[in-house]
Amino acid sequence: MIDFELSPKIKGTQKLLRGFAEQAMRPLARKYDEEEHEKPTDLINMVHGFMKGGVGGSMSGGGEKKEEGGEKRRREANLTTSVTVEEIFWGDAGIGLAFPGQGLGGAAVQATGTPEQKEKFLARFTGDKPVWGAMAITEPEAGSDTASLRTTAVKDGDEWVLNGEKIFVTSGKSALEDSEGFVVVWATVDPKAGRAGIKPFIVEHGAPGMQITKIEDKLGIRCSDTVSLSFMDCRIPADNILGSAEVVDPAKAGEKGFKGVMATFDATRPLVAAMSLGVGRAALDFLKNTLADEGLEVRYAISPNRMTAIERDITEMEANLKAARLLTWRAVWMLDSGLRNSLEASMAKAKAGLAVTQITQKCVELMGPLGYSRDMLLEKWMRDAKINDIFEGTGQIQTLIIARNVLGFGRDKLR
Ligand SMILES: Cc1cc2nc3c(=O)[nH]c(=O)nc-3n(C[C@H](O)[C@H](O)[C@H](O)COP(=O)(O)OP(=O)(O)OC[C@H]3O[C@@H](n4cnc5c(N)ncnc54)[C@H](O)[C@@H]3O)c2cc1C
Repeated sequence: MIDFELSPKIKGTQKLLRGFAEQAMRPLARKYDEEEHEKPTDLINMVHGFMKGGVGGSMSGGGEKKEEGGEKRRREANLTTSVTVEEIFWGDAGIGLAFPGQGLGGAAVQATGTPEQKEKFLARFTGDKPVWGAMAITEPEAGSDTASLRTTAVKDGDEWVLNGEKIFVTSGKSALEDSEGFVVVWATVDPKAGRAGIKPFIVEHGAPGMQITKIEDKLGIRCSDTVSLSFMDCRIPADNILGSAEVVDPAKAGEKGFKGVMATFDATRPLVAAMSLGVGRAALDFLKNTLADEGLEVRYAISPNRMTAIERDITEMEANLKAARLLTWRAVWMLDSGLRNSLEASMAKAKAGLAVTQITQKCVELMGPLGYSRDMLLEKWMRDAKINDIFEGTGQIQTLIIARNVLGFGRDKLR
């Protein structure tokens, strides 16, 4: 059964993080936007302290702790994380993305690793110092069409040798500068096998032949680092392939050959949706508070056709945000319940990515020139919003996935 009431434990986490986001993060949002890529070290240490204390569910990699109530905690780990992410991103999206944690790399390990690999690599996030995980799938010639990726992995004795280039890797610099951090790099072990040949590899700090070649200067989420990586005969241990190296015959495997990538996205897309909720709510809260200061409150009790245009705009934005939150919670609840959620994860991401883009733009519009000024954070939220409709699969790609699922069409019929 899905329960729309958050548990007392999650509500406690939400309250704690709401205070942290408002008092510690928000006052520094502008500073870290302007000082792009500057690490918010004090905030990072505070967040690491929370995570070690178990706040934030699987964001900490500590969601698997064996303790009283541990089973329930595991069953709520992704829901807890989505609530955590919404609060943190309400505080600030750029700083939120710069925080340490498993990131997409940890999600890929969770989705594709053996039990021993999960134990080995995820335990790093529960130690005394902050650690970053990242994931690299996008290449200059392969973004939405992940199956066209060209990075290769060839087995040579007890090592894999990687060659290729990855672009737009979130937290790639943080992960690779850190002695415990890692990037999960997707590469093909058999280019002729198409999707079935694509496998995830753990590349760690100091891997020979791996280089950070570019640090992006971005429109939004500027505190977070986004890098390009090059692999030239980059050697990693044979055990660093996540899961099995076996290539299942593509004719027989169908979509199953690609299930590692899909399982990773099923876990991460709802969390990107949760990021959108935080940024969208930040803009909407700000707009409503500013209007309230001017004596303009939304009259929820009257019929929509008697409302002013601004009141209608606000209720519409609130409805969109709520719909996105319900889709997000459904997708993470399914994940926590061990149910396949590809359709629901895409629905949550498509809805939330579009909602946050439209809400932040509308809030800027309604505030007039003040919305465009750097004196306020609205213009920043509008810049921070758009990425949610791009990474982890664009809005158009989510719509395509939803259509395929609803219509029962394969990739070959609807592309
Ligand atoms: C700040 C940032 C951080 C990122 N972080 C990561 C990361 O950590 N790891 C990682 O691997 N990648 C990351 N990415 C890459 C991101 O996931 C890709 O940019 C995204 O998936 C789109 O791929 P693309 O850039 O190749 O665009 P393209 O695939 O070239 O798409 C261009 C446009 O065409 C549309 N389009 C493409 N195919 C179709 C279709 N079949 N039907 C309809 N429309 C279509 C797209 O929606 C888009 O609007 C990041 C990107 C950014 C900007």
